[in-house]
Amino acid sequence: MHGRKTEGHIFCPSSKALSKGGVKKSNLPLTIDVETISRYLNLNQDEIEGIVDASNIFPFKLSAFYLNLIDRDDPYCPIRRQAIPSIEELSEGGDMDPFNESQMSHTPFFIKRYPKRGVLLTSLTCAVHCRFCNRRRVVGKTPFNVTFLEESFRHIEKDREIEEVILSGGDPFMLSPEELGYVIDRLKGADHIKNLRISSRIPVVSPDRITPDTVTTLKKRSPLWIVIHINHPKEITPEFDDVVRRFREGGLMMVSQTVLLRGVNDCPHILARLFEQLVYRGIKPYYLFQIDEVQGVSHFKVKIKRGIEIMRSLRQMISGLAIPHYVIDLKGGLGKAPVDYRYIKGRKGGIIHAEGVTGKLGTYIDDGI
Ligand code: SF4
Repeated sequence: MHGRKTEGHIFCPSSKALSKGGVKKSNLPLTIDVETISRYLNLNQDEIEGIVDASNIFPFKLSAFYLNLIDRDDPYCPIRRQAIPSIEELSEGGDMDPFNESQMSHTPFFIKRYPKRGVLLTSLTCAVHCRFCNRRRVVGKTPFNVTFLEESFRHIEKDREIEEVILSGGDPFMLSPEELGYVIDRLKGADHIKNLRISSRIPVVSPDRITPDTVTTLKKRSPLWIVIHINHPKEITPEFDDVVRRFREGGLMMVSQTVLLRGVNDCPHILARLFEQLVYRGIKPYYLFQIDEVQGVSHFKVKIKRGIEIMRSLRQMISGLAIPHYVIDLKGGLGKAPVDYRYIKGRKGGIIHAEGVTGKLGTYIDDGI
């Protein structure tokens, strides 16, 4: 197996020295193979074979920064589970395009599922290819250049119903600050566009990519919302804190989104710590996503009953400000459905019996109009 190679990258945007592991300094992506990964992580033969086989189907990419967050000896390390391919990805089930995005796309890069907002794919690569990505059909597989977006800009300019655009991908921060500035200017140039959101995992997996130029670019174009994809308290690093501080100083507004992942964060204590720590930093936890029905991710799936129990525990443990919406993104592009503990236990006449966060039953007279 050591003779077999798999394509992948360690993406190292920083010239800063990296910690343990001895990953080389570089401004360029370095192509690595299984032997290289084996130098940094203790892997058994089955795990090595899993990396090779899974990454032949779903591209593998890892930033040096994120690699250095992995506990090299712990096969259950939550960072490792999110970043390192495994044989479980070859299990059956799931769909390559669970939201039917290829059919719902108005242009190859613009998807509109709701009347007033749409998603613009502003890049088709990321610093790390998460092993549960819901756009794995295209991320890391499809060439991308910012000039490909012209058709989407023209479409958005014409569709005056659209008020909000979510810049997603791939990761929008894989663009240079100049390219990102251009994209934002083109969108804000349409007078019916009232709001822009930038959805990114870069502050977590490759924070060095957020340069002073990036912040200046964004600051000049405020107001902007940044949606940070973060899944585990271990992902809150000093470097992440530095990005958040600079975003805040730049006047950017931040919310977070988290995917509920078995073996990573399916525990109320882990999520309570994550969500509280985010609030302390001025980031409102926005969504907790039930994992999407994507091909090769079933090993991350948490039962909805368990998700509901976790939400119930969270309500008892942390402030309402730190509670995200727990949602399922329904298959076929039908949109998000809230999932929450059913606090309403029954009704007698006009009186509702409901469970409070303490677990005790109370009543509410439902006589409103
Ligand atoms: S950062 Fe987002 S788009 Fe990129 S691989 Fe991870 S989940 Fe997919």
